[in-house]
Amino acid sequence: MGQEQRELRAAQNRMMFRMVHDRVGDESGDLRVAPELAFACECARDTCVETVPLPPLQFLAIGSDRNRFIVRRGHESLEFEEIVAERDGFLIVSVLD
Ligand SMILES: [Zn+2]
Repeated sequence: MGQEQRELRAAQNRMMFRMVHDRVGDESGDLRVAPELAFACECARDTCVETVPLPPLQFLAIGSDRNRFIVRRGHESLEFEEIVAERDGFLIVSVLD
């Protein structure tokens, strides 16, 4: 299964977050009131193109840990992932060693 595709999507999500973070900072805005972004689902399916809407601040808390992935509910792969937390419409998973 596609750990590479997943890493790629996770990297793109972090890049998108950084762009918003920088822009908000430039305008002395506040990340807490920044609108939701459509983050790519970080599941292990190679062909997944679904998104997870998430406020940037919430992504910051999850995405700072390299072994935390946001996946749509139902996209988890329990044979090599464990569910860390369940949220509205999505799950936070970590990949088992
Ligand atoms: Zn997915």
